[in-house]
Amino acid sequence: MLIVDQELCIGCGVCEASCAFAAIEVVDGCAVVGDACTLCGACVESCEVEALRIEGAEKTQVVDISAWSGVWVYAEFRHGQLAQVALELLGAGRRLADARGVTLTAILMGSVTGEAAQILIGHGADRVLRIDRPELLHFSDEAYGAILTELIRKEQPEIVLAGATAMGRSFIPAVANILGAGLTADCTRLDIREEDGALLQTRPAFGGNIMATIVCPHSRPQMSTVRPKVMRELEFDTSRQGEIVDVAVLPEWLKSRVRVLESVVTDQDDVNIQEADILVSGGRGLDSEKGFVLMRELADVLNGSVAATRAAVDAGWIKYPHQVGQTGKTVAPSLYIACGISGAIQHVAGMQSAETIVAINRDKDAPIFDVADFALVGDLYEIVPKLIRAIEEQRRA
Ligand SMILES: Cc1cc2nc3c(=O)[nH]c(=O)nc-3n(C[C@H](O)[C@H](O)[C@H](O)COP(=O)(O)OP(=O)(O)OC[C@H]3O[C@@H](n4cnc5c(N)ncnc54)[C@H](O)[C@@H]3O)c2cc1C
Repeated sequence: MLIVDQELCIGCGVCEASCAFAAIEVVDGCAVVGDACTLCGACVESCEVEALRIEGAEKTQVVDISAWSGVWVYAEFRHGQLAQVALELLGAGRRLADARGVTLTAILMGSVTGEAAQILIGHGADRVLRIDRPELLHFSDEAYGAILTELIRKEQPEIVLAGATAMGRSFIPAVANILGAGLTADCTRLDIREEDGALLQTRPAFGGNIMATIVCPHSRPQMSTVRPKVMRELEFDTSRQGEIVDVAVLPEWLKSRVRVLESVVTDQDDVNIQEADILVSGGRGLDSEKGFVLMRELADVLNGSVAATRAAVDAGWIKYPHQVGQTGKTVAPSLYIACGISGAIQHVAGMQSAETIVAINRDKDAPIFDVADFALVGDLYEIVPKLIRAIEEQRRA
């Protein structure tokens, strides 16, 4: 429980301001703790006179963390090829492994993986643990989970990263749970803490209004998932050397109660806004579904694709696979043109890594202009047709 030392408390109110749950308030010059307290410890850290302490919630260190070493990346392989996020994670993993002075290992599971292991080495892995079996042709939570769990138990890596994809989100939490490790989902930043080498896992919290940095000081491995397009991949280096180890698995690890009858690629995969180099994105400011015809025209002259805000998707003007943002996709195109988009934090979280952002909005104070490289203030229905004509003329010239 959270204890207030009334002798030390000076009633300054810093703890009150630090509490995200409004669970502590100063009454008659002394801090009082309410039922909403989650023992997060934010107030304890903020209290300069050390009048607050948590008792009875200390974690006992059951894991010898010095026995865990190395950074692992789960390299997702599906439909006969490596997922792009696997390469992006190797970029992040390489940086973490170098900071820790340890090796970077990629875990490759699938069937007929071909050159995938070499590609992983060229993109930064020191070592690939390859499990290439016909039983792994179709993804199965049970088999993939059992293999990864057993490998982690045996080799004891300190950090395990995976993509926050449908596959990663499906089986990585179960692996973390079986291992008794924590899992920080949807990280947007990963760093190593200098003092003790712990992994600093940063992710949006409270509806994207704050960025929280999560540390797992007492358990291993430290596990994180990262959305596609958040980290940058390293350029493929043909001269990189690495070790490829074909791992033998026990038959019971391959067992699954699920029998896959057929695997079908859906239309949703056709609209991969995460792969697009140029995105023209529309929001509620389009005012109707017809606005997306104009968005498509602009996208066509630029050889780009069309994206949208959640407001436009919720209005039924465009389908969900086009949605950018916290509950949509994270994109990092070279050009993002935001039309009639206010710039809510949940939208910006999904597009702020774009190299160049152009925003068109009739409200000069719209928050989207805070992240835009080029701001066009005015009616999008006047500006976009002019833009299309100008691009066409430029092309003809
Ligand atoms: C938990 C949670 C998750 C969310 N996830 C997402 C997400 O993944 N993606 C996402 O996008 N949102 C998400 N949202 C919603 C988000 O908070 C905003 O409501 C949403 O992004 C607003 O969309 P918008 O910018 O299209 O609409 P609005 O905020 O209504 O903005 C419309 C803008 O268009 C401008 N405008 C109007 N007419 C014109 C015109 N003719 N010419 C030029 N400009 C014009 C207006 O000035 C205004 O700035 C989430 C919200 C929550 C709570």
